[in-house]
Amino acid sequence: MAKKNQTALEHYQQVMVPNYAPMHIVPESGEGIWLSDLEGKKYLDMGGGIAVTGLGHSHPKVVAALKAQAEKLWHVSNYYASVPAIELAELLTGLSGFDRAFFCNSGSEAVEASLKIARRYCFDQYGPEKNEIISFHKSFHGRSLFTVTAGGQSAYRKGFGPLPAQMTYGHYNDIEDLTKLVNQHTCAIIMEPVMAEGGVYPASPEFAQAARALADEHKALLVFDEVQSGIGRTGSLFCYEQLGMVPDIVASAKALGSGFPIGAMLTTGKIAQTFQPGTHGSTFGGNLLGCAVAKASVEEIAKPETLANVNSRGAQLCEGLRKLGKTYDLFAEIRSTGLLVGAELSEAHQGKAKDFVTEGLNQGLMMLVAGPNVLRFAPSLIITESEVNQALDLLELTIKSVLSNP
Ligand SMILES: *Cc1c(COP(=O)(O)O)cnc(C)c1O
Repeated sequence: MAKKNQTALEHYQQVMVPNYAPMHIVPESGEGIWLSDLEGKKYLDMGGGIAVTGLGHSHPKVVAALKAQAEKLWHVSNYYASVPAIELAELLTGLSGFDRAFFCNSGSEAVEASLKIARRYCFDQYGPEKNEIISFHKSFHGRSLFTVTAGGQSAYRKGFGPLPAQMTYGHYNDIEDLTKLVNQHTCAIIMEPVMAEGGVYPASPEFAQAARALADEHKALLVFDEVQSGIGRTGSLFCYEQLGMVPDIVASAKALGSGFPIGAMLTTGKIAQTFQPGTHGSTFGGNLLGCAVAKASVEEIAKPETLANVNSRGAQLCEGLRKLGKTYDLFAEIRSTGLLVGAELSEAHQGKAKDFVTEGLNQGLMMLVAGPNVLRFAPSLIITESEVNQALDLLELTIKSVLSNP
């Protein structure tokens, strides 16, 4: 019993490609905000599987949707239409105001489809020269070759060349810089409305609106990567709703399927016409199982009471973090939108975010990092007031422990 985590991890090291460095415990089951490891120890999950489990673990409505569809039909390929895909597309377009949906299996694929449709749209409308894509330093857009090139972290691209060409990188939230980069060859601007992996930096409404205006002025498309910020995470179904503008294309994934792999690209009726039969596709994308689960997830998350909870629990979490930061002289800044929260370590604790996450597990608390200096929290969107307080208590124990063993 006692060594189950360690034994499993030893096997992992023998059989898995070593591209991950998993934590020292192995989760086995989950319910709501709690996870249990192979030895039965419990953890309060403030990471949500990287902002994926928006309804916590084993939500009864999502489990019921999965079971019902699992007993009916899983997959037929896109040679056939399916009712779950139609219903999910109706739900997402109805809630967002976009006209059309394309389904795939991950965030990378949703961004890939967004960039491909932007390139092809400009090719069809304006010719082959209008192909430049502008993204931002420190941004993250996925791990396929196109999306990792669109991302603003050069370390993730190293050694994988030749890379897709005609990509430039601007400074996030810097209107002047973006203005210099956009020109008649710009095909698309791609941005996260909250730069998540890059350290939890929300876009200012002015910056998002300027990106919109510059894209319009130069006949370029504005792509929002809402893979992490979307599906209720920031307190509205999509984050752009809070920024006083509407992008042309939105990429969604992560919380969309509550942990079942599914991604979506949403766009306008006009841009959607770019993808005619044969131009793009996916074998699994839009499969019945994923769509049924995503529909149940989105219905639950889009409820006004869920979104209201995101905002109040987010505020509560930030307030608690500010207090802890003051008491232990720990944080330089708390940044957040809804329940996507980043606590940046102060000067004296630079580079130690991972230490807090590791010790958190010993105390029964799961957290995320966003780079070496930021603790990130992306818990279930239906986390309760007392669960947030429990998380803050566990974090305080974690902080005490880390600070007493420097
Ligand atoms: C996670 C993430 C992706 C990539 O999603 P995958 O499902 O891992 O391919 C892309 N963009 C953003 C903003 C993300 O947070």
